[in-house]
Amino acid sequence: MELSNLNIEKYLKQNGIKPSYQRIKIFEYLVKHRNHPTVDIIYQELVKNIPTLSKTTVYNTLKLFLEKRIIQLIVIEENETRYDADITTHAHFKCEKCGRVYDIRVDLTEMKIEGLKTFQVKENHIYFKGICEKCLKENK
Ligand SMILES: [Zn+2]
Ligand SMILES: [Zn+2]
Repeated sequence: MELSNLNIEKYLKQNGIKPSYQRIKIFEYLVKHRNHPTVDIIYQELVKNIPTLSKTTVYNTLKLFLEKRIIQLIVIEENETRYDADITTHAHFKCEKCGRVYDIRVDLTEMKIEGLKTFQVKENHIYFKGICEKCLKENK
């Protein structure tokens, strides 16, 4: 599924979510920016154009999206919850200098995890931390 050409209204309906204007805008923000935002970031960006929006609405909408499994939660730092509309399996890299969270493609089918063979895996989260390519270049 390619997120960038998605009909968001239809997608929300297909997943049992009533596509209100605010819900569409919140999902659209996640799809457009791919910046793994926190509730605060989404709120601050969207309230500029939707003055009636509240932080609670953003929070509750994200909670609903999570329940319907159309977004995933990223908790790299325990005090910082981020959201991602890309629900395919991929890893995340957080740069400790610029704070940006990058998507890192991983092929888990190539990864042999012996200890998991007899377990039923429902979710997986792979996080890396360090300094990103861009910051490393700027440091030189
Ligand atoms: Zn960086
Ligand atoms: Zn991601």
